[in-house]
Amino acid sequence: MESLTLSPSQWETLFRHLEDCLPEEGCGLLGGLEGRVQAVLPVTNELHSAVRFRMLPQEQLENFIRLEEQGLELIGIFHSHPNGPPHPSGTDLAEFTYPGVIYVICWRENGSWKLKGFWMDGKTYREVPVNISAAAA
Ligand SMILES: [Zn+2]
Repeated sequence: MESLTLSPSQWETLFRHLEDCLPEEGCGLLGGLEGRVQAVLPVTNELHSAVRFRMLPQEQLENFIRLEEQGLELIGIFHSHPNGPPHPSGTDLAEFTYPGVIYVICWRENGSWKLKGFWMDGKTYREVPVNISAAAA
């Protein structure tokens, strides 16, 4: 999985959630198959912090179960950096938990949301493409 693809309406669901979380970081899960997102699942940031996030465990678990019931895999984890930076922070690297999924970081620039995807391990990260395009027929 070298990229993620979201539909325009999924992207809208995602950034609306992040907007609702301001000034705190918002977060959630992306379910799908082979890089194509099929479910955007917001999760409460239990830290209620502007610089860190931790998904509320019970909601996270409920969403994992939903994905499994729908035959989807966890392919991405998204969270916002309301005040930057536009890439994983030192805290993100230190608290990295899920190998094999793309981390999507969203931030605001001139009043609109931007996003980038990253592969991470516990030490470093590398950018991968995130595309916004309508579902293939
Ligand atoms: Zn972060």
